[in-house]
Amino acid sequence: MVNTMKSNVNKTIIEELNTSHSLPREKWHTLLSSFTEEDRIYAASLARRVADEIYGNDVYIRGIVEFSNTCNRNCYYCGLRAGNTKLERYRLSPDDIYSCCEDGYRYGFRTFVLQSGEDPYYTTEMICDLVRRLKKGYPECAVTLSIGEKSFEDYAAFKEAGADRYLLRHETANEAHYGKLHPENMSWKNRMRCLDDLKSLGYQTGCGVMIGSPEQTIDCLVDDMLYMQDFKPEMIGLGPFLPHSDTPFRDKPKGSYEMTLFLISLCRLMLPHVLLPATTALGTIRPNGREQGILAGANVIMPNLSPVRVRDKYMLYDNKICTGDTSSECRGCLERRMEAIGYKIVIARGDYNG
Ligand code: SAH
Ligand code: SF4
Repeated sequence: MVNTMKSNVNKTIIEELNTSHSLPREKWHTLLSSFTEEDRIYAASLARRVADEIYGNDVYIRGIVEFSNTCNRNCYYCGLRAGNTKLERYRLSPDDIYSCCEDGYRYGFRTFVLQSGEDPYYTTEMICDLVRRLKKGYPECAVTLSIGEKSFEDYAAFKEAGADRYLLRHETANEAHYGKLHPENMSWKNRMRCLDDLKSLGYQTGCGVMIGSPEQTIDCLVDDMLYMQDFKPEMIGLGPFLPHSDTPFRDKPKGSYEMTLFLISLCRLMLPHVLLPATTALGTIRPNGREQGILAGANVIMPNLSPVRVRDKYMLYDNKICTGDTSSECRGCLERRMEAIGYKIVIARGDYNG
């Protein structure tokens, strides 16, 4: 009885989000602290309807080249952190990166995502040259960068070179929580400054969080939703926190699969046009997690284009999926997975259309 009453309240809140695309703090709090399985499924059905209206049954794919696992930062959660001395480090040359994208183009990718640890080996000029070369070779493709915190001038130079999009998860919109996930030399304010700079430079900008990161409370998630409601990112990356055995968070519990799916649905209702991937972490926590992510309102999948010889070295967390597969195997596998749930991978840039 109590549960049914709660669910009615939550159902009304979900409907309000669907019509007004925003909620006040108290309603976010009520929803995130008391949602039931029934509420989660209800939100997913509305979110899928919204995504179907805007994107139909198209799923956009992005090929990620994880071009360096070298990082000079020490985020407590991440397997690539500088303090992890067990990891064998690699760096792909610009030619190697380009040739991964050439393969990707043949497999139907029209967005290349270049991602790495924060690795000063790659200078601003090197990144700009690579972006220019890719945009020249593949003018109809989008280039997305995900290479961490840089200065306004660097972001401006990458944009000038032709970069279209940038992914930089804010990780948490709560400054005190940020301090529990990162060492003292990292600054929440700088991360938020980066996101503002990216947006002001005209990038399609992606932020996002790990769900269930250590010490994350419902209030932190409420702060995240309020931040995104205001910032209006073009892309949002949401995945469960998964521990990595060679980090300080090795013994911390993984994030909730259900909470991740619920937040995907709520993001779709809040920002109907947002580009929302069903992440690799979601596919790692559950074998059909990415399919369920799509059914909860996601519309993007980001398989790996890195050479197989380096794939198992880009381990952000334990047991990451697809590290033994080639790019063409991943492409085929995803095609079948999407078809099995009534969706189809499209050969398109897949820009934000809001
Ligand atoms: N160095 C860049 C990009 C690579 S990390 C950056 O930090 O922005 C990409 C994302 O992986 C991070 O933003 C983080 O949200 C996610 N990640 C790192 N460690 C993780 C873990 N243990 N579990 C789940 N996601 C993780
Ligand atoms: Fe480096 Fe990014 Fe991992 Fe932090 S999350 S340690 S910046 S790769």
